[in-house]
Amino acid sequence: MKLITDKQEKENYTIIIGCGRLGANLANTLSDGGEDVLIIDKNKDAFRKLSPSFGGLSMAGDATDFDVLQEAQISNASAVIAVTNNDNANIMVAQIAREMFHIERVIARLYDPDREYVYREFGIDTICPAILSVKEIDKILSKTGISNDIDQEAEQ
Ligand code: AMP
Repeated sequence: MKLITDKQEKENYTIIIGCGRLGANLANTLSDGGEDVLIIDKNKDAFRKLSPSFGGLSMAGDATDFDVLQEAQISNASAVIAVTNNDNANIMVAQIAREMFHIERVIARLYDPDREYVYREFGIDTICPAILSVKEIDKILSKTGISNDIDQEAEQ
């Protein structure tokens, strides 16, 4: 993959922050789907999780470091997806992408559902594994007729 230059249009160039179980899977899936992907992780051993067919770029560095984001040419990205295991890092990177680089599609994972309001204020989409898991479990229980709408309770 070539990083696009300032003069080229932003198109299908996705930066993924965090090459853990979620980030690596996402990178492999997007890359297999033909999208340009750059994945960043502070631990270079994490890139071992990428599949041999991964056709994107990987960059070792702490994504909360502004220089690392600039080196990744974040200003050219059409989407930034922050999926580290650290909510604070995800919030910080997502806000930088949104506020300073005006990236249209910014998605962040957060472990703590109570912090979702922080993201919403900044127009950042979130995924919360705890809430998603509750919904999926409720769906499975619904199939067997034992659902008690536990997802509603979890969101309260
Ligand atoms: P997992 O918990 O399996 O989803 O993995 C999360 C990944 O995020 C790990 O590979 C961490 O090394 C990575 N990570 C955590 N904080 C940062 C950060 N500030 N910058 C880049 N990668 C990070």
